[in-house]
Amino acid sequence: MDIQERYNPFTGKQVIVGEVDPVPAAAALGLEPPRFCEQCGRRMIVQVHPEGWWARCSRHGELNSKTLDRR
Ligand SMILES: [Zn+2]
Repeated sequence: MDIQERYNPFTGKQVIVGEVDPVPAAAALGLEPPRFCEQCGRRMIVQVHPEGWWARCSRHGELNSKTLDRR
């Protein structure tokens, strides 16, 4: 089986497949930047600016509010 480890970007807790992974309401709306890397659970450097935010993991690079806008 190929289970990829995932971490909740807002709490840093490991996400268990099949379990409810609560996301804060503001975060679900994209208003709140993630604070932890989804791939490794490390705390990221987060910067909020007028157009959005960016968050950087020392291992996995940068995420920003535009990257996550998949709608
Ligand atoms: Zn990472």
